[in-house]
Amino acid sequence: VSSKPSHALALAPVPTPPSTVDGFVKQFLENLNLERGVTLSTASPNDRYIALATTVRDFLVARWLEDIRRQKDAQAKGVCYLSAEYLLGRQLDNNLLATRLTDIATEALASCGIDIDDMRALEVEPGLGNGGLGRLAACFIDSLATMSVPSIGYGIRYEYGIFRQTFVGGQQVEQPDAWLTLGSPWEFAHPESAQTISFGGHTETYDDGGVTRSRWVPGWNVQAVPYNYMVPGYHNGRVNTLRLWRAVATDAFDLRIFNSGDYEEAVRAQTYAENISKVLYPEDSTPQGKELRLQQQYFFVAASIRDFLDHMLTPGFDLSKLPDRVIFQLNDTHPVIAVPEFMRVLVDEEHMEWDAAWEITQQCFAYTCHTLLPEALEVWSVELLGRLLPRHLEIIYRINDAFLEEVRERFGDDEMRIRNMSIIAEFPERSVRMAYLATVAGAKVNGVAELHSQLLREKVLPDFDEFYPGKFTNVTNGVTPRRFLRLANPGLAGLITDALGAGWTVDLERLRGLESFAEDPEFRARFAEVKAANKRVLSDVLRARDGFEVSDGHMLDVMVKRLHEYKRQMLKVLHIVTSYERIVSGRVKAEDVQGRAFIFGAKAAPGYAMAKRIIHLINAVGEVVNNDPRVEGRLQVLFPPNYNVTLAERVIPAADLSEQISLAGKEASGTGNMKFALNGALTIGTDDGANVEIRELVGDDNFFLFGMTEPEVEELWTRGYKPAEFYQQDEDLRRAIDLIASGAFSNGDRTVFEPIVSNLLYDDRFMVLADYASYIRAQDRVDAAYADQDAWTKAAILNIARCGFFSSDRSIRDYIDRIWHTPPML
Ligand code: PLP
Repeated sequence: VSSKPSHALALAPVPTPPSTVDGFVKQFLENLNLERGVTLSTASPNDRYIALATTVRDFLVARWLEDIRRQKDAQAKGVCYLSAEYLLGRQLDNNLLATRLTDIATEALASCGIDIDDMRALEVEPGLGNGGLGRLAACFIDSLATMSVPSIGYGIRYEYGIFRQTFVGGQQVEQPDAWLTLGSPWEFAHPESAQTISFGGHTETYDDGGVTRSRWVPGWNVQAVPYNYMVPGYHNGRVNTLRLWRAVATDAFDLRIFNSGDYEEAVRAQTYAENISKVLYPEDSTPQGKELRLQQQYFFVAASIRDFLDHMLTPGFDLSKLPDRVIFQLNDTHPVIAVPEFMRVLVDEEHMEWDAAWEITQQCFAYTCHTLLPEALEVWSVELLGRLLPRHLEIIYRINDAFLEEVRERFGDDEMRIRNMSIIAEFPERSVRMAYLATVAGAKVNGVAELHSQLLREKVLPDFDEFYPGKFTNVTNGVTPRRFLRLANPGLAGLITDALGAGWTVDLERLRGLESFAEDPEFRARFAEVKAANKRVLSDVLRARDGFEVSDGHMLDVMVKRLHEYKRQMLKVLHIVTSYERIVSGRVKAEDVQGRAFIFGAKAAPGYAMAKRIIHLINAVGEVVNNDPRVEGRLQVLFPPNYNVTLAERVIPAADLSEQISLAGKEASGTGNMKFALNGALTIGTDDGANVEIRELVGDDNFFLFGMTEPEVEELWTRGYKPAEFYQQDEDLRRAIDLIASGAFSNGDRTVFEPIVSNLLYDDRFMVLADYASYIRAQDRVDAAYADQDAWTKAAILNIARCGFFSSDRSIRDYIDRIWHTPPML
């Protein structure tokens, strides 16, 4: 590089370094010197990791800057994905894969005496999400980049992500997730581009040249600082952006107060402001009426909307054309406050007529619903909303008035219907129903699996479906085959590539080609060897991570997901206790039992007492089962703490059996279920969420179905469900519950798990006991099927071959066709 500043370099990005081992080594050593201020010999492991990450980043930057420029120049319609969560997983491997640098980096580091695996192990994954919803957002931004769709992801840069789970005496203890402590080499901070985000205060009207207008006079504000992450597409040279916002104080520090000696008071404003992006709410599917959470939601959507308007539009852009430029996709209700914010900007700041602004808004938003649980439909009390965002509350009222007027015009004064459809609920307290607001505002509303979308229309929002024909649609979730097949399961990926060529990674329907290989004994043998190797890898990981010894030759029966009663980890526990009780009571001979390792992974929301009790019970059952010589070599229960994306990437490829056992009608979709099927685990599952579509695709012979259907659940519930009757009638069930109640898993203390037992017998909202017998029969079928290893392997291969549909690329294509209408920009 010449020492003179060059005009060309000032305009265009620095050229990408050469993709060679030498080029990589040079860049890496430079980064050690220039970024870390060390040499190779003085570098700490963290220095090496950061320099490596920075080097990979260097290979992406030029393309990224170019893509940003092209996207802006083209003024094409793009997607703003608004999500309060992104459960990204580790970045290093994904970015190496996307840029085809894996082999080069491995060799380059080896030439510096560094094992790249040691570097991989150092990365702390950004756990900026709770579970499926946040992981979906991460899969979607991967697909958007891989498919070259103009788009940007917006979210929150939580200082602490999802808590780190530990077990003490078998009980969950939460530790803070300080993922930023050692630096965050994948991000670019731009404090100079911070935006001011306001809260509180009051509203007033004023005269604007004869027109009476409203405006918001806020009470306080914070700064939203953008942090940019590169999101590389797979082998297409495309790099998209994920922009996460961090809250900082406007006036961090009051020197006058500091000098007076009141140090705490001097930084009070800073603490208050920074709390907004301090922690991810460790909630999953139930709202917590916390003011801070509403602050978080408004904070990130307000910053994102302003960011889009300021930076993605050409100066003087005609705002009536916004629907040709943008669609804001609302990932669940968390970002729905964006709707009144957008109206506020258009009407109060841009002085657009209300009707015109509303017309535009209704074309610029679309809403994805992620639940069927009524308690998970977010509401905000009018008192809180009015205090925190007074102008937004006025806007919501006006939207609601106009909407209810339309409803009256259509249906007459049907007060019941009007009350049911109102965005404002009156009981138990006056509050804003965010899902209704999103439905009224959104151009489209989608569920996340066929069954879920159907139930959403028929059960959750039926009046809205009638009122807005064509507004509701379905987009079945998907998962990225890059991270969850190509990276997580290199053995299987290699086998597939050998059989089908390399194109499947971006065209997952090609997996169909594996159907004929399922008939090939040699291919089956190779597949079985890959599965066995994946089990060895998992075994090594669990030994190093948790000191577990996984028994050899066991079926790996896996249930990993958030702990929630509706997902029914309790049903799995009852199966384990039954398997154990049958042996120790002498009703079944140990040697006749298929050896199984039951693997759990599950975090419980810290405030969710029953979920935490169930975690305790799983660990307690494991403690007894794993130490009872009567079942040794047959049954093993393993519950590694802190299930996260990194662990998922090891567990899923090793699994034989995937447990997807929610009560029918409760799981919106699930995405774990798809990952398992794509990695050749067979599913034991209910007819729920995307299980329905998995079973339709893989066929009944390759799926272990059990349990009531959703209409049967409804019917039993309406008839009056009495769980104790099931307990009375089923000997296995009685014995299992009695064993738990007897204190067999709590050193004889009958009180420890009493709340679980009485909940099951007298409440059992998620009908564990009603599905128990059917589940046990299905598990007996699993045992029988597993005894024929070759037939099992064939079914596993057919699962993979038929699940190409579950690529998140297909989901994104569906969003484009049904909702966004944003063609790729090639
Ligand atoms: N947590 C992690 C780490 C995941 O990777 C996933 C999805 O695969 C989930 C939670 C969601 O799992 P499920 O769809 O089974 O609820």
